[in-house]
Amino acid sequence: MYADVLVQYGVKSLDHTFTYHVPSEFENIIDKGMKVSVPFGSKNINGFVLRVHKEPPKEEFEVKDIMGLITKELKLNDELLELGHYIKSRTLCTLISAYQTMLPTSLKVQNNKETYELTITYVKLNKDKEIIDEYIKNNKKSLKQNEILEELKEGRVLKKDIKSKSSLKRLVELDLVAYEYESVYRINAKDSDKVKPNLTEEQKKACDVIESKFTEYNTYLLHGITGSGKTEVYMQLCEDVIKKNKCVIMLVPEISLTTQIVKRFYNRFGRDVAIFHSNLSEGEKFDEYNKIMKGEVHIVVGTRSAIFTPIKNLGLIIIDEEHSNNYKQENNPRYHALDIAKWRCEYHKCPLVLGSATPSLESMARASRDVYKYIPLTKRIGSSKLPTMEIADMAPEFKKRNMVLSDKLQLEIMAALERHEQVMLLLNRRGFSTIINCQSCGFTYKCPHCDITLTYHKTSNHLRCHYCGYTVIKSDICPECGEKAIRDFGLGTEKVEQTLRELYPSYRIVRMDADTTTRKGSHEDIIKGIENLEYDIIVGTQMISKGLDFPKVTLVGIINADESLNIPDFRSGENTFSLLSQVSGRAGRAELPGKVIIQTFNPDNKTLNYVLKNDYMGNYNYEMDIRRKLKYPPYYYLVLLRVTSKSYEMASKESIKVANYIRKSVKGEAICLGPTTANMFKINNVYRFQIIVKYRKVDNLFDLIRDIDKQYINNKDINLEIDVDPLRI
Ligand code: ADP
Ligand code: ZN
Repeated sequence: MYADVLVQYGVKSLDHTFTYHVPSEFENIIDKGMKVSVPFGSKNINGFVLRVHKEPPKEEFEVKDIMGLITKELKLNDELLELGHYIKSRTLCTLISAYQTMLPTSLKVQNNKETYELTITYVKLNKDKEIIDEYIKNNKKSLKQNEILEELKEGRVLKKDIKSKSSLKRLVELDLVAYEYESVYRINAKDSDKVKPNLTEEQKKACDVIESKFTEYNTYLLHGITGSGKTEVYMQLCEDVIKKNKCVIMLVPEISLTTQIVKRFYNRFGRDVAIFHSNLSEGEKFDEYNKIMKGEVHIVVGTRSAIFTPIKNLGLIIIDEEHSNNYKQENNPRYHALDIAKWRCEYHKCPLVLGSATPSLESMARASRDVYKYIPLTKRIGSSKLPTMEIADMAPEFKKRNMVLSDKLQLEIMAALERHEQVMLLLNRRGFSTIINCQSCGFTYKCPHCDITLTYHKTSNHLRCHYCGYTVIKSDICPECGEKAIRDFGLGTEKVEQTLRELYPSYRIVRMDADTTTRKGSHEDIIKGIENLEYDIIVGTQMISKGLDFPKVTLVGIINADESLNIPDFRSGENTFSLLSQVSGRAGRAELPGKVIIQTFNPDNKTLNYVLKNDYMGNYNYEMDIRRKLKYPPYYYLVLLRVTSKSYEMASKESIKVANYIRKSVKGEAICLGPTTANMFKINNVYRFQIIVKYRKVDNLFDLIRDIDKQYINNKDINLEIDVDPLRI
């Protein structure tokens, strides 16, 4: 018996299949779609079985044996095998990279896999302090044990964070420490979701429209303002899909959001929900994957990669916050989960529901041409009203040396705190301050590997590059001129936190950004803390902006609205509108009325004023007009080609060659811009030039780009990245 195996080889792949012999022990189990390990040259590499057959290969040379089955139970089914070809043609990637993306990375079939109940395991002391201290004193042999005990004196620690597992095991045997289990998605008795609310007229209508065509492929745009009950609509739809014994995939844009939504889904559907996101360990992924494969659950909630879960009888896909940039994968294959969802819904003949308070321009444009069916939810649930919004002009504040919080915002914060309500402050930049320079010679700290200034992190007194991780210790003395004149400007979340602690010393403050949420489970901990009213003020990056539902948050402050407006990208207006609307939507979600204050140096800015008026359509028309004039999506499609190299000359020379070749070949049917230096010109010592192609319809464009790509496949010095429908340029 033989198998044709598509192998992964090198950085870019050949996309070739090779025939291997199937050893007798695998004959009964091998099947197409399985990931296998095969000898290739002098090493073993992975590949996917595409065909199993009895014809010996014609070639003269010896046929080698398949070495092992990597994913025996988890294989690509017929649908996913076919989907790979679609991804290849849509994103111009290789077939093998499409398949690699679909199956979780190192998902190996293991016998000793850890079982996973969606619980977090903590370790805590199990004896009185005196006994522990006594043990530490007498224990001269195992310093690691002592270290663990010392650490636990400060409080419980995640089991995963303890490095020496053998010492831990010994301490458990000695009964000095014990495990404590906690469910991540614990169902609180006080949660009321178990009692299903009666749907409002709008919600009912939305469900009816979708359910009337449950066995047809249609895309629906559920455009509901924040707090209008979209999640409730999703759950009703799920319930009805399950009644038909079909399954649902529901995508959420960020892991930080899964906690709250999954909890609501758990309350409603119990163990019928599987969770899938990149923060799960491989063992956890395996278990969730298995539940899905065995058909034990009907609902999968997860982030982008969950779109590939091999559900057999799919009845519905929901994409929540459909405008989110996180649905696009930013490395190869650069697929968009929306495209994958459309393909799968068409394959299964079922509806696709896209939900958002601020749909992407593309989606809204499609809805306005009736390509998507438009379903509005225009009212907030119950007595809850949209928050009132105000602008705080920062120019006069700056004259008063009010760098972080305007008087207006400070007054409102104090008022909210005195009413025992919560305050949420958004700043889209982590770290302490953005610019550090020398007042004497003008020196600024820059990353030696990347084209960017370093960000100051005060807690560790380090300057850090957010691209490559390069860090240096900050000194007061300028490394250039030797003067003691280093000063910092600009704002980061850390600095806001510090200012808040000075202004409101008796209140409890928490920061939520990439730096405070690296540890597994820390998202959940912070969110739980906010829900349990353990914090009065929450400061964070856009991580806190979406989807979260905290009834006690009544004041939202946007510290620096200009930050995202100033990003040099044609989408910055659109992105700013949705970011600010989303974060504003966190205020006053329950009975308590909400207020939003937007701090800016540009109080007359159009986008900000549409945010103030909560005028999505106004902003949509304004942006569409610009897009039409400048020939940007959704009027034109874009492909971005990025030529990168460690050598500046080579990157520059080759990018000119590519651009000229495209210009010559498309002859006015498309607009080819560039090459220009990319927004981040140098990352990790690699120079980046880019070419943008704008087009409406060019028949051979993709073939042309594929040809160019082939030229560089075996070139070690030059890399070509292709981004079809780029989100950032
Ligand atoms: P969205 O997802 O649109 O922001 P949610 O679905 O989170 O809105 O709903 C906002 C709040 O209103 C939630 O607390 C939810 O439980 C509640 N809710 C939603 N629909 C109803 C309803 N029909 N009756 C009562 N409460 C509802
Ligand atoms: Zn760097």
